[in-house]
Amino acid sequence: MTAVGLGLPGFPPRAPDGVGFLRGTESFPEAAHHELANPQLRRNIAKATHTIREKRLRVTGELPDWQALRDTGSAVKVDTLNRLPELLEQFEAAVVARGGVVHWAADAIEADAIVTELVEATGSREVIKVKSMATQEIGLNEHLESVGIRAYETDLAELIVQLGHDKPSHILVPAIHRNRSEIREIFLNEMDGVDPNLDDDPQHLAAASRKFLRHKFMTVPVAVSGANFGIAETGTLGVVESEGNGRMCLTLPQTLITVMGIEKIIPRFADLEVFLQLLPRSSTGERMNPYTSMWTGVTPGDGPQNFHVVLLDNGRTAALADAIGRQALKCIRCSACLNVCPVYEQTGGHAYGSTYPGPIGAVLTPQLTGMTGKDDPNASLPFASSLCGACFDACPVEIDIPSLLIELRHQKVEHTGFGPEAAAMRAASIAMSSATRFALAQKAAGLGRLVAGKKGTISTLPPPLSGWTDARDIPAPPRQTFRQWWKSAEGRAAIAEARAEASS
Ligand code: SF4
Repeated sequence: MTAVGLGLPGFPPRAPDGVGFLRGTESFPEAAHHELANPQLRRNIAKATHTIREKRLRVTGELPDWQALRDTGSAVKVDTLNRLPELLEQFEAAVVARGGVVHWAADAIEADAIVTELVEATGSREVIKVKSMATQEIGLNEHLESVGIRAYETDLAELIVQLGHDKPSHILVPAIHRNRSEIREIFLNEMDGVDPNLDDDPQHLAAASRKFLRHKFMTVPVAVSGANFGIAETGTLGVVESEGNGRMCLTLPQTLITVMGIEKIIPRFADLEVFLQLLPRSSTGERMNPYTSMWTGVTPGDGPQNFHVVLLDNGRTAALADAIGRQALKCIRCSACLNVCPVYEQTGGHAYGSTYPGPIGAVLTPQLTGMTGKDDPNASLPFASSLCGACFDACPVEIDIPSLLIELRHQKVEHTGFGPEAAAMRAASIAMSSATRFALAQKAAGLGRLVAGKKGTISTLPPPLSGWTDARDIPAPPRQTFRQWWKSAEGRAAIAEARAEASS
């Protein structure tokens, strides 16, 4: 054995704290408590998620090879993650060969700085934006604003969220928590040049935003986008959207800057055949999305003449380094898991405190940021689930979210040590491993009837059991334990009757 200690390789860095939107200020249970008190939010979310869920089931059910498509989508993503460094270099070479420029951003700080420098080099103090979760993740709009550059979201729902100084609450339907009279108020208060007599008719609201955005499309020379896919083979990028605002942003300005998470790479152009069937059916429940825009480098005299792509890590390599957790990087952000999640349906997206809400957020966010201690809000996210498995069934790329949640719960306990839940479980284990101790514990539990009183439920217990009663009541223990009933005359009679019935 060698005496030379080579040391262990360091773990890849996580997303830096304090930049962008990957960590809220409250734990999930605390934030959910506030959100649950908003009946309008819960009504809006229940209506929207149920509608999209039914549409999705209809259009996925009509494809005889839906399961084969899911298997293929999952396999392509697994292959991508296994070969990610090689595919990213192939992608970079292809983009450069077609006149684009590739920038590598280790984290949100670098990505914000790169985009800011590129915008400043154009001399413009305004940018138009295509809906992009990567730029929300890094807090790009806020960073640009801090140096005097105004970013305009052009997706209608994102525009509502931006003008309302709000945060998106759903991956696909960011303003799901707003109703039309709230939107009218936001437009009247925040939109330049809006008609002061604007009413809350959806057509009139859409027309107001259209007029506002048209002017921006025609006058702002720089656009910032995300990407749904980046194809390693050709250097092509793709955005799918429903309003045509993306097409405007991707074709009209002189300069286009795309910020893309490194996991959005797919190996071949032909792979799009699979993903362009999986994504619209899983996200909006449509057979095809209305606008699919693809671009490759720069085409002289046609479209943006300066094209930059910023490849964003921000904790993704750390997620990739986790043998189980890396599955979360297969995600194509369709939001099907949100729409079927019974927890998300009640709380909405804000309770997750991150750009990525719902089941995928609960497994992706803690991996991007790490879980830094028992008081880290992101350490509570893996517990924001009933583990019912509906997300796994719905996911078009077969991410086993329940298993990831369990793994992250395990990691949380490993990182943060012996917490109240672990203490309660340890106590239960000690009691249940001896018949005498179990009988004594049952006797002691009988005292709970005194605590419950006439109402028959216990609403407050001391720590560590308070963790349970903070969120729910416990029914009073029964008068008789099962063992006591078994030994009683009534129990003996019931057992004799059951035996007689079984032998007849
Ligand atoms: S985890 Fe699956 S279902 Fe959820 S958003 Fe990602 S791809 Fe869609």
